[in-house]
Amino acid sequence: MNELAYNPQSAWKAYASPEERQAMRALAERYVDFLSECKTERETVAWVERRLRGAGFAPGLDERGGFTQLHGKALFAVRRGRRSLSEGFHLISAHTDSPRLDLKQRPLIEQVGVGQAKTHYYGGLRKYQWLARPLALHGVVALQNGDIRSVVIGEKQNDPVFTIEDLLPHLAKKQSEKTVADAFEAEKLNIIIGHEPLEAAPEDKAGNARTGADESREPAKEPVKAHILKLLHERFAIREEDLLSAELQVVPAGPARFVGLDSALVGGYGQDDRICVFTALEAFLSAADPEHSCCLIFWDKEEIGSDGSTGASSRFFEYCVRDMAEAWEPESSFGSLMLASRALSADVHAALDPDWQELHEKQNSALMGYGPSFSKFTGSRGKYGANDAHPEYIAWLRGVLAARAVPWQMAELGKVDLGGGGTVALFLAAYGLDVIDVGPALLGMHSPFELASVADLYASLQVYRAFFEAGR
Ligand code: MN
Ligand code: MN
Repeated sequence: MNELAYNPQSAWKAYASPEERQAMRALAERYVDFLSECKTERETVAWVERRLRGAGFAPGLDERGGFTQLHGKALFAVRRGRRSLSEGFHLISAHTDSPRLDLKQRPLIEQVGVGQAKTHYYGGLRKYQWLARPLALHGVVALQNGDIRSVVIGEKQNDPVFTIEDLLPHLAKKQSEKTVADAFEAEKLNIIIGHEPLEAAPEDKAGNARTGADESREPAKEPVKAHILKLLHERFAIREEDLLSAELQVVPAGPARFVGLDSALVGGYGQDDRICVFTALEAFLSAADPEHSCCLIFWDKEEIGSDGSTGASSRFFEYCVRDMAEAWEPESSFGSLMLASRALSADVHAALDPDWQELHEKQNSALMGYGPSFSKFTGSRGKYGANDAHPEYIAWLRGVLAARAVPWQMAELGKVDLGGGGTVALFLAAYGLDVIDVGPALLGMHSPFELASVADLYASLQVYRAFFEAGR
């Protein structure tokens, strides 16, 4: 009877030949570089744009395809297939944003001789994971004259980093008795950005002022903050007021790394969901002679509910598809084109955690190394807020993947009464097209050091490529 039972297939076993292992390793090495370089939605979209240009794609739309980006944070790309658009396109979505700490608009404070920047966290993070570790600052400062100052501090070997200090155990008795939810306050997530006070310029002659203001000859009321402002001015030619129109993000400092003696895992920040951005783009560029037009949509703001002009609930995607239809097949109706299309909502899944197995229902959990996980539905407790993919669509996908012996698994997130989470699938489902969530499973999702399996990275690329190359 064994041949009647179903067991998921290990991606390590599926890709065991020396050639495949070599391809797997090469992909992982490029992925580690990508992850180390792209720590914000803007950096991710800029990287994707460079890669698209390098492959011959141009902004806008020509007969073969093109791409459009929005506010540097979201991006749509299309590669024209052999069949007409009215027969539907194949779309993969992913998101460019990750949980982090954003600087407040008036961030700079000085307390007891320490200069700090106040933050407002973005997305679902566990506050304590951000304490006592090296942090970097990435982002932009927009000036009134239209200039944009790009900021990246804390990534180069000789760069200083920032940090949020944690309470010493000697004084943490009361805090230790609190619940995790109560023990860490958002208003204490202040990053340390300086300590040396600015000396009032002694005997400074008029016209030789250090910050261009006369009061620089007076001892500053907040000398550490004054020093920080001076350094920011020297390096970026900005003043405190310019931070009102800045987006500065505090992220873990340093590169992504291979983890384990066998280097079989990738550890790094922002793999939710940049692992799907990376693999979906690779699939898009490497798909061989696709029948149906291939589209990518990379959205921002997924981690805070997909609102905002660059999020999945905005009209950006729809505008792009309408422009594409107008250019290539003006006679086709938007509605029928969308209804004929098929999508993968590429987002990461929670892997069965070796130390917290009791939180998962094991038979329906994602195993590291068994290929990307499909989720028929996301949502929580009674499938609320779920896109519930149709069985006919899942069956078609099974056929596509079986024909290439690509390893994959079907999973849901945690035990029914414990788990929950959403993706952008429902925003695509709103158009009536077929869509299902699929992406590699991570350990430590939303942490500053998420883990992915090198085998799952490789298998995810195979799944996305098979989808783009599939006929009907
Ligand atoms: Mn995600
Ligand atoms: Mn997430």
